Amino acid sequence: MSVFFRADTKYERSKMKRVCKVQRCEAAASGYGVYCPKHKANDRRHGAPTQKGITKSNLKPYREMVSQRVLKNAENPVWRKAEERWLTVVRLAEGVIGRFASGRPGFAWERRAAVEVVKLSQHVAAREIVETTLAVYLMQDLEPRRFCSERAFRTQLVRRVRGLAEVNSGKWLDPGSGKVRRVYDELPPKVTDAIAEWVVAALGGIGVYLAKLESEKARKEEQEAMELAEALEGVQ
Ligand SMILES: [Zn+2]
Repeated sequence: MSVFFRADTKYERSKMKRVCKVQRCEAAASGYGVYCPKHKANDRRHGAPTQKGITKSNLKPYREMVSQRVLKNAENPVWRKAEERWLTVVRLAEGVIGRFASGRPGFAWERRAAVEVVKLSQHVAAREIVETTLAVYLMQDLEPRRFCSERAFRTQLVRRVRGLAEVNSGKWLDPGSGKVRRVYDELPPKVTDAIAEWVVAALGGIGVYLAKLESEKARKEEQEAMELAEALEGVQ
């Protein structure tokens, strides 16, 4: 018995000395977690301990690529279908809220995710949601290193989509802290995951396909530039 006790104590001691799992971070891991408080907070907010937030301006060139595609294919039904797919997500969310309202059991995070989706649909046009989602897919394909993991990608996707509402929705003063808060505050990871799951299921296929088109286009342009450079070398 005492042997077990000693082993346990040693285990406790070794645990106290543990450092954050993130490479080159020397800070102590917090509690029973594997990351220090800073990386733990970043993991919650951005989907991975070292994931950097994708800003609206980071995404801008990809939004433009999507706009170009839409312009070039204005008559193609795919854009309307994509919007319909987003609206299906909104209906699904309304269904979740309705189920809760009628007293049927469910997960609190699912309800919160549904509320967020409906709120978003009230502030932002379907086309905006679609184009932003597709832009994040293009970014993932053309700048894969921007995203630490699939989960980080999904978290950034939800952040950018929700960010669309910020311009249209107000800020409010939190009387408790005296801080100005935005209507769109940080969500618990489970809620973000649920929203991402719905959006990815609805629009991921189109996103992946468009990303493939863009990377083929980029490869072709690079090839043409190379051929031109080679040809120029031969000019006397
Ligand atoms: Zn750390």
